[in-house]
Amino acid sequence: MTEETSLDGLGQKVCDGRRVDQAEALRLYSLPLEDLGALADRRRQLAKASAYDGQGNQIVTYIIDRNVNYTNVCNVYCKFCAFYRTEKDDDAYVITLAEMDRKIEETVALGGTQILMQGGHHPKLSLQWYLDLLSHIKAKFPQVNIHGFSPSEFIHFREVFGLPLEEILSRFVKAGLGSIPGGGGPGRAHETESPHRRRPRISPDSSALAHLPR
Ligand code: SF4
Repeated sequence: MTEETSLDGLGQKVCDGRRVDQAEALRLYSLPLEDLGALADRRRQLAKASAYDGQGNQIVTYIIDRNVNYTNVCNVYCKFCAFYRTEKDDDAYVITLAEMDRKIEETVALGGTQILMQGGHHPKLSLQWYLDLLSHIKAKFPQVNIHGFSPSEFIHFREVFGLPLEEILSRFVKAGLGSIPGGGGPGRAHETESPHRRRPRISPDSSALAHLPR
């Protein structure tokens, strides 16, 4: 692509269902949210059109899942956030395996098939702690997809673990991670709303996050 491609041309490319390259993705990323949302909706329509015997755009599907926050300890201190605690706060927590099991059992009993698992940027939880958590969940609930962590958490992991994103992702997936949420909006908000935001913003060029191994 092509810095030369006009925005109209790029929009048409998206609407036609053609693949955009990295530079084009960065241009799309800077669009006003409503414009980006309209293009995303167009791609969704294209992707769904042939599903359900051609009724993919008339049928809306859903899953039952549960948000589980594995810790509220976070060292980012976003101004808008009422969730985070410091390690010294009385109500700071790190989830236990028993508590995680209970939450997933309740979810499964209601027909749930997925957990969305995210947490604060805990400064001390180790790589092994996350691997143990993932493998425990996968072993006990193999039918439940673990949709977990946000891009900003992965950047945090990269700093704390001192490993490349690709390796962290690979090890998480091997332990049981099934998919990751987007989370770009919070990443942006953190950058501007936290006085302690020292880490780089997640951007579409985080290729390891764009290609989660399945
Ligand atoms: S990263 Fe920001 S929004 Fe998320 S838990 Fe920490 S302080 Fe709250």
